[in-house]
Amino acid sequence: MAAAQTDRDPPSALCSEFLNFSAKDTASRWLAAADLQQEVYHHLSVYVPRIFCLGPRMGGSSREEQREELATQLLLLAPLEWLLLGEEPAAGLALLQEKNQPSPLCGHVFKVGEPTYSCRECAADATCVLCMQCFLGSVHKDHRYRMTTSGGGGFCDCGDAEAWKEGPYCEKHTPADGSRDLEEDPVAQLSSDMVARGYSIFSIILKYAVDMLTWEQEDQLPAGLEPQGKGDTYYCMLFNDEVHTYEQVIYTLQKAVNCSQKEAVSFATTVDRDGRKSVRYGDFQFCEQAKSVIVRNTSRQSKPLRVQVMHSSVVAHQCFALKVLSWLGQIIQYSDGLRRILCQVGLQKDPEGENSSFVDRLMLNDSKMWKGARNIYHQLLMNSLLMDLKYKKIFAIQFAKNYRRLQTDFMEDNHERVVSVTSLSVQLFTVPTMSDYVKDDHDREFSITDLSVQMFTVPSLGRMLMVEENLMTTIVRTFVDHLRHRDLQGRFQFDRYTAQQAFKFGRVQSLIGDLKYILISPPSDWTHQLRTKFLEGFDAFLELLKCMQGMDPVVRQVGQHIEMEPEWEAAFTLQMKLTHIISMIQEWCSTDEQVLIEAYKMCLSALSHCHSGLPDGEQPISLSLAGHCVDTFRYQVSQDKVSIHLPVCRLLAGLHVLLSRTEVASHFPEQLPLGELSPHLLIELPLRCLVLCAQVHAGMWRRNGFSLINQIYYYHNVKCRVEMFDKDIIMLQAGASMMDPNHFLMIVLSRFELFHVFSSSDIRKRYREANKDLVQQNTLIEEMLHLIIMIVGERYVAGVGQVEPFDEVRREIIHQLSIRPMAHSELVKALPENGNKETGLERVIDSVASFKKPGVTGRGLYELRPEWNKHFNLYFHHYSRADQSKAEEAQRKLRRQNGEDTALPPPVPPQLCPLFGSLVNLLQCDVLLAVEGAVLQWAVEPGGGGWTESMLQRVLHLVGMALLEEQQQLESSSRDDDITFNYTCKITRPGEAPSTSGSVLALLESLQNAPHLEVHKDMITWILKMVGNIKTIRERTSLTSTVTINQGQGPEETVRDKDKAERKRKAEMARLRREKIMAQMSEMQKHFINENKELFQQSMEELEASTSAAEHSPSSSELTCTSQVCVGPRRVGGAERRQLVTCILCQEEQEVRCQGRAMVLAAFVQRSTVLSKNRHRSLPAPERHDPLFMHPDLSLGIHTASCGHIMHATCWQRYFEAVQLKEQRRQQRLRGHTSYDVENGEFLCPLCECLSNTVIPLLPHTHTPDHSADHPSLEAWLKTTRQQIEAVNSAHRKPSEGASEGAEPEGFRATLSPQMLFSSSVSEMVTTFSMSAYKVGLKVNPNEQDQRVPVLSWSTCAYTIQSIERLLMDEGKPLFGSLPCRQDDCLSSLTRFSSACWTSAPLKTVHTHFIRLFSALLPDSQVEDTPCILDIDMFHLLVYSVLSYSALHSPDQSGHSFVDSGHLHLLHLITVAHLVQILLTSITEEVCMDQDSGGSEEEELTCQLYSTLRKHLGSVLPEVSSGWQLWSCVKLGILPFLRAAALFFHYLNSSVPPADLMVAGPGQWEALCSYLSLPSNLLLLHQSQHTLLEPLIHRWCCHPGVRRTLQGGGVLVRFPRESNRLIDLPEDYSILINQASSFTCPRSGGDKSRAPTLCLVCGSMLCSQSYCCQTDVDGEDVGACTAHTFTCGAGVGLFLRVRESQVLFVAGKTKGCFYPPPYLDDYGETDQGLKRGNPLHLCTERYEKIERLWRQHGIAEVIGHAQEANQTLVAIDWQHL
Ligand SMILES: [Zn+2]
Ligand SMILES: [Zn+2]
Ligand SMILES: [Zn+2]
Ligand SMILES: [Zn+2]
Ligand SMILES: [Zn+2]
Ligand SMILES: [Zn+2]
Ligand SMILES: [Zn+2]
Repeated sequence: MAAAQTDRDPPSALCSEFLNFSAKDTASRWLAAADLQQEVYHHLSVYVPRIFCLGPRMGGSSREEQREELATQLLLLAPLEWLLLGEEPAAGLALLQEKNQPSPLCGHVFKVGEPTYSCRECAADATCVLCMQCFLGSVHKDHRYRMTTSGGGGFCDCGDAEAWKEGPYCEKHTPADGSRDLEEDPVAQLSSDMVARGYSIFSIILKYAVDMLTWEQEDQLPAGLEPQGKGDTYYCMLFNDEVHTYEQVIYTLQKAVNCSQKEAVSFATTVDRDGRKSVRYGDFQFCEQAKSVIVRNTSRQSKPLRVQVMHSSVVAHQCFALKVLSWLGQIIQYSDGLRRILCQVGLQKDPEGENSSFVDRLMLNDSKMWKGARNIYHQLLMNSLLMDLKYKKIFAIQFAKNYRRLQTDFMEDNHERVVSVTSLSVQLFTVPTMSDYVKDDHDREFSITDLSVQMFTVPSLGRMLMVEENLMTTIVRTFVDHLRHRDLQGRFQFDRYTAQQAFKFGRVQSLIGDLKYILISPPSDWTHQLRTKFLEGFDAFLELLKCMQGMDPVVRQVGQHIEMEPEWEAAFTLQMKLTHIISMIQEWCSTDEQVLIEAYKMCLSALSHCHSGLPDGEQPISLSLAGHCVDTFRYQVSQDKVSIHLPVCRLLAGLHVLLSRTEVASHFPEQLPLGELSPHLLIELPLRCLVLCAQVHAGMWRRNGFSLINQIYYYHNVKCRVEMFDKDIIMLQAGASMMDPNHFLMIVLSRFELFHVFSSSDIRKRYREANKDLVQQNTLIEEMLHLIIMIVGERYVAGVGQVEPFDEVRREIIHQLSIRPMAHSELVKALPENGNKETGLERVIDSVASFKKPGVTGRGLYELRPEWNKHFNLYFHHYSRADQSKAEEAQRKLRRQNGEDTALPPPVPPQLCPLFGSLVNLLQCDVLLAVEGAVLQWAVEPGGGGWTESMLQRVLHLVGMALLEEQQQLESSSRDDDITFNYTCKITRPGEAPSTSGSVLALLESLQNAPHLEVHKDMITWILKMVGNIKTIRERTSLTSTVTINQGQGPEETVRDKDKAERKRKAEMARLRREKIMAQMSEMQKHFINENKELFQQSMEELEASTSAAEHSPSSSELTCTSQVCVGPRRVGGAERRQLVTCILCQEEQEVRCQGRAMVLAAFVQRSTVLSKNRHRSLPAPERHDPLFMHPDLSLGIHTASCGHIMHATCWQRYFEAVQLKEQRRQQRLRGHTSYDVENGEFLCPLCECLSNTVIPLLPHTHTPDHSADHPSLEAWLKTTRQQIEAVNSAHRKPSEGASEGAEPEGFRATLSPQMLFSSSVSEMVTTFSMSAYKVGLKVNPNEQDQRVPVLSWSTCAYTIQSIERLLMDEGKPLFGSLPCRQDDCLSSLTRFSSACWTSAPLKTVHTHFIRLFSALLPDSQVEDTPCILDIDMFHLLVYSVLSYSALHSPDQSGHSFVDSGHLHLLHLITVAHLVQILLTSITEEVCMDQDSGGSEEEELTCQLYSTLRKHLGSVLPEVSSGWQLWSCVKLGILPFLRAAALFFHYLNSSVPPADLMVAGPGQWEALCSYLSLPSNLLLLHQSQHTLLEPLIHRWCCHPGVRRTLQGGGVLVRFPRESNRLIDLPEDYSILINQASSFTCPRSGGDKSRAPTLCLVCGSMLCSQSYCCQTDVDGEDVGACTAHTFTCGAGVGLFLRVRESQVLFVAGKTKGCFYPPPYLDDYGETDQGLKRGNPLHLCTERYEKIERLWRQHGIAEVIGHAQEANQTLVAIDWQHL
């Protein structure tokens, strides 16, 4: 590397040249030169290598970049600007801009992730988009719009009149004078001088840039650019490809260039982003060496990575070429004239010939350039050619000319796809479903071919390219060329596809996209040329379809299962991709009669070409049944080849429908080859396909594996069915309408291999003959009947039936909603989308359904309105079997509820179009009647399993359809001879041979009361009634005279009917009642079982005051006479109550006693920053941190929660050991995490599976003190306490002498050996919980000797109480009685535990803590490092000192009242300290505006205290004289403290709360004060002990920390501390997307972040899920989110993944889950993944729910439950997010 140093300009030399260089002079020298290009080139050859690429880093550091930037501007660009403008550039450009008349196009180029908007109502197609600015200023913001995030590239279509049906301009881009001629040449605006200079400069620069970017020499430069002295300085340049993974590249680089993992990651990231990166700098040898290592290391399995050793000057010129292209892009922004000049220069053809313009050269070399270069020049193309309407056309033609070659290059190019960080665990999020498989790929993002959307979708351009460049044909041919694998018949062959080919296939698909673009809007008027070219393209397209017809054929596997599943996805992907194209082509055809006729003819001849080989070799046979005969050939789906791919047939079916719909068939019958159609051939292949499906359903193809199952699935699936299943049905309809219905049905029977079943003379023979597989045969009969139902009944296609597309969609919706109410997105998924991703749903939905809004969970649902139920068709062709049975059940239930019969007769169908009119005859033909008769006959004589109820049900449906048809014909025709339909007459005829049974009607009548057919009774009744009705109508029409008689019969009948209906209704009511009672009983039973469990699982919101209030009420009634006090010697304890609890594991009851068996409560301890007022404070170093004084900013606390479930300690230990063992075994079997981390002591509560990590021991209540004992005054107490401290100190100094020395006050024990209070089992549990709090709180390993152990137990007690107090306050709930049991139990056991936790620590430790705590109140010269009172949270101080004070005293009965007095004095002292603290910090001048005189006593006293403080501190405090203001400030500030203290003493002393505090409302203050034994005028505390407290206050104020903090030297916390909330989110989600799109990765120099993620706690935006922002946390690299949780949330985090619209919860390094976002669309649904694109708005309720979850410390628990419920979440590497 050293070799490089010698021949390089030291940077300082360049600096001096800076100063001497004059851009103006250089420009004028150039202007005078004879050969401008030579001069410029010379200049570049001198300076470029001295500015760029001077060292190994290639502009890596920001300083280097700045220097480069500056030098480029001054030395290289400035002269060019002078030359172009002829004056000082800044002034010149301003002038240009001023004179410019900008085009109305917005042209804003989208960044990756930026929101784009499309109007569903006005956009010409889905590719027309607006940028956010334009959208907000457009009319579309009030329309139905769609929002997506851009994949980068592409620009805003605002101002393009062709892109929008309405409102093409936003406010900003509306042309000022609408009349301005757009054809006017903008160049005319410029001076001729400038035009001339522009041409010459632009051509020189473009030539230079194109030369350099397409330069392939590694060591040489183009003529004129060779530097004078060429040093031996080279770069080893690594290029990206898509073969090698990130990991491979990183590994190889570490080896080859000997760099660290971090550097290698950075290299790999840059290669991925820019397409290339130099990985080594030095002499040639040095670089060659690295190259050979890389090549060697990567060539083993695949093509090696591409590496070049390039001379530094070559790289330097390439760098500048990119800069100068960007510069051009900027310059032309100032003037449309210059833009036009650039376009002209760019497209100017060299006389050399074809493809010689600069743009051509760039385009044709596109695939050879690296990604960074492509990006820059694509940007320039967008800024120039595509922004200029005139040149856009010329460019488009050029592009179309080169189309084939570009696509071919693109296909061969393998340096593209985004090989990237996406490989980092993203795979885990996306289950590879089919939908992902066919998802639009972004491969083209960086290829020139990507520009096609900008041109092809402009209707006028697209059409011009089609006409002039024959683009459609070109695209189709290019496409076909690239799919080279064919079988012998010339069909595509995908089944032996290798990975490489599959990849190319993926590329090829982008061609389909282009085809879609040019077809996206059908023409309104056709020219002769357009017809010709379209039909030419259609012909090419037919060739493509011919290659697909019959591909991937299958043969039924008998005997063995197939060995290898054949490939099927490729073929279906192709089919899916083409689906829209085929539909579009049909749409084009429908707009012109001539085109339609020609296309039909072409398609027909293509089909006969496909059929040419068909019947050959298949022997003709003759079938006869029911007196009819037909010839067909022998073919069996179950034995011969069959293919599911029949696109040619299906296209013909589509065109056939169009003939009918557009009435071309009836207008121009002579032009159509209808006579040539052979219906037998038309139906053959679709019929085979449908028989295949039936046989698969019948289980005949089981041995063919999943490949076939999948194909059948997609054949019916909404993505494919429009051009597969639906068209096959249409083709059968078309065929049947052209044939004798008996012949048609006989062929159907024969293809279903069922002919013999119905033709044999004795139908019963079938039982004997069909013994092999009766079930299969039954299924086949069912399927066949279903098919007949569909062929006759499916008329909701415009052209088949007399309907509009509107009706078709409506029918789909009705049938979806008949299954159950559905969300909008579910409906969308169930409907086929057109090319614009529209389903037509919106136009219809409100007419058939009503919308039900969602609650806080769930989503909005649409419900079918009852009046549409009569349109329900049980045999709706798009129902799957599961759908069908669900719908049937739902509909029957509904009818029962309405008291109706349960018959589900067919709905009245729409009329058929004339072309399909004869279809109805199927219903009354002899063969069908024979089939119906046979099935009914089997049903009459059941037994032997030869028939099924479904079979019967289908036959009844067919009968019903026939009757409806007859009724309709009768009702609509006036004369009898119109009526061709006489089904009722036919069914009265007795069966003919071979079936010797009775007539169909007779059979039905005999079935009506068959006991085994109860279910179908209603349907048969309906049929018989219909028969009666029809008879009546017939009689009426034939004999007009009888009309009156008929009418006379009417009422009688209705009376009878009414009677019957009434009886039925009553029976129904009785049944419903029965059902209800049954349901209630079973509900009660269930309830009984779940009772215990549910009791505890109820969530916080649900469980209101009731339970815990109930617990308290009896005791409160006992004690109503005494005023309740919770602290001090007058308090009332709760020890009288015995505590009996039950162990959830062994169900034994146990009393809680000190000496008994320990009982524990499952609990979860976690660090928390929820209350933090200072998220910037860095977390303390665990080893040195002193937690004794909590800072009032509460930056880090320890929270404890519990589900309230109690166990024996021993039972729990056994359970936990079992969990551990299980985990060990599991880990041996498979890697990965569980939802809980056993190593950290985590487990799930055995009852409710709540995440827990420790247990809290249960301890008994304290005793009530002796109320007769006297209460020492504060003065006396202080004195005693001082003595005690002395005694303790001396005792600790001389431990050997024990406690006997000195004056030891009563009840006090300075002994060092604590008395054993608890049984060993209890004290063991005390230690267990102490250790958990210690371990979690400090993040250290357990150490029982550590002095800090008890402090952390006290700390979690104080913090948990504080956080619960805040929640109650903010939710407006009363202080007592509103907590759910589990929290009440948790706080009570936690507090009592904390009061006893000192027993597990050495007494000396506890004494020392108390002495230090006490010194904060009474400054003690012997104690060092006492914080000032502004740095102490007073509630924590209270809890700690009260709890440690107890430890100082003998815990036996005697000392109790003394301890209680001490507690009271501590409370008083600390309250005064807090008053002072509040007055010092929370009084601001703004608070104290007005003055009022003569306030209450409180106000005066507050004023007095405040002035005392001002005396001590002077002007640091603002001057305030309003006592009222001061007092209200103090009162407000101290309230949280008092409330928390009341909670604390309540739980500590088990004292009953006063009634006033159990309800929200007035009187709280007084009740609170009296409960705490405080005067309601708190200032009296100070006033009454004035002399005693004055010196204390003085000393508090004189602590140097006070003055420092007040003057801004520390964190100043004001009281009351405001509750933390999650950040405010915008109402409109697109604002967030926009914010995120401008967010760049903070680590990789302005690069877009792939997964911008917002912290909901602090609002930071993070670059998640990416290598670039991984951080080392405790020796492990974690993603930005996880890293952030450690600084912002103490390990717990809530984020919003902006691109995904998904909330992310993270806890620790291994746990996380996704949570529904608080954003909903208008249909009440979230859009996780932003797939649907409906506008999203903030749902405040849902956001509040998330916030509450966070404030309740429930995130970890939610994650636990989510992971437990969904095991795949466990497998995600959450730490990488
Ligand atoms: Zn725009
Ligand atoms: Zn605009
Ligand atoms: Zn619109
Ligand atoms: Zn137990
Ligand atoms: Zn539990
Ligand atoms: Zn944060
Ligand atoms: Zn990043």
